[in-house]
Amino acid sequence: MTGQNPVFIPGPTNIPDRLRYAMSIQTMDHRAPDFIELLSPLLDDLKKVFKTKTGRVITFPASGTGGWEAAITNTLSPGDKVLVARFGMFSHRWIDLCQRHNLDVEIIECAWGDGAPADLYGARLAADTNHEIKAVLVTHNETATGVRSDIAAVRRAMDAAGHPAMLYVDCVSSLASMDFRMDDWGVDLAVSGSQKGFMLATGMAIVGVSEKAMEAAKSAKCPRTFFDFNDMAGANDKGGFPYTPPLQIMYGLRASLDMIFEEGLDNVFARHARIAEGVREAVRAWGLKLCAHRPELYSDTVSAIYVPDGFNSDELTNHIFDHYGVSFGVGLGEMAGKAFRIGHLGSLTDVMALSGIATVEMAMADLGYPVELGSGTRAAQEYYRQTTKTALKTA
Ligand code: PLP
Repeated sequence: MTGQNPVFIPGPTNIPDRLRYAMSIQTMDHRAPDFIELLSPLLDDLKKVFKTKTGRVITFPASGTGGWEAAITNTLSPGDKVLVARFGMFSHRWIDLCQRHNLDVEIIECAWGDGAPADLYGARLAADTNHEIKAVLVTHNETATGVRSDIAAVRRAMDAAGHPAMLYVDCVSSLASMDFRMDDWGVDLAVSGSQKGFMLATGMAIVGVSEKAMEAAKSAKCPRTFFDFNDMAGANDKGGFPYTPPLQIMYGLRASLDMIFEEGLDNVFARHARIAEGVREAVRAWGLKLCAHRPELYSDTVSAIYVPDGFNSDELTNHIFDHYGVSFGVGLGEMAGKAFRIGHLGSLTDVMALSGIATVEMAMADLGYPVELGSGTRAAQEYYRQTTKTALKTA
């Protein structure tokens, strides 16, 4: 096919040409003395994205799931108790990973579409007077439901309970797209990856680690080899890697960080917020419902949208793929067949977003949805027309 459509899955995201070229390099020697010139500034600059001055960043050749595993195995021992809320497919998968590592997992069940319940976390922690809970796990941006949780509120609840557990946050689909404040929120382990906000190929797990978490890694007993923090940090401190690094992704990450800093982190967040609101304007105009229960939970990187009763969201996403050659996110877990997802993160403009909205509309018209062709596109156009002016003025 001539021409190229963007993807609207919530990661991996569209890779800008500049980053594709940056990753297109010939093999270089990672044991050469100049490797440190690539590595050290990368790790330092990643700290700016996590907003940590006191923590460090550790990367592994892996996807986000590897980051989850690294965070857990380096800081906990089999049998340790962890407290975690389940409100979507990704919080569910992190729970599964903890259970397979023989942790004692206390689950707070929440409705899918809700966010992390800071009050319930606080109540469980206050009741845990012997401080058996070692870790509190929270998914910042639940990609399955398009829900953003308030991490600062969870931290406040932990502090109010006077509980010493460490705070682990999954920021795979929020880092570098929505504000994240590792130090301010007292996050001990922050797990992300290369293929969402960083706009790169999949292949690097990126983990923010607090001093307290590095200390815990000295005595934690869960087995790990490939993902060992001490091996990786020790090698990084000497300017190297304990094994072969994913060099192409590292060059891509250099260029990605340059792009993000050139735009300005705050402008990156503002662009995501604006594009997301345009998508939500379209959803409102269609008369459809978001999975996220309340506006304060709306994610700026992904919207999960229920299809009307009597329709199947898988048929919609398959139809869009077959007829228009565009990918949207399918409904996951409880949402399968009931909701589809529009990923609006990473390298995206108003114009790209409008093409996605218009494509969904065409497919809904094809399948007989009770939605007026053009209604969502028009609503988003109006929103972008108005807010682009402000965005240009403040840029
Ligand atoms: N956590 C969240 C919130 C995610 O969205 C994803 C993937 O989409 C993961 C974890 C797992 O990451 P990966 O697929 O890179 O292993």
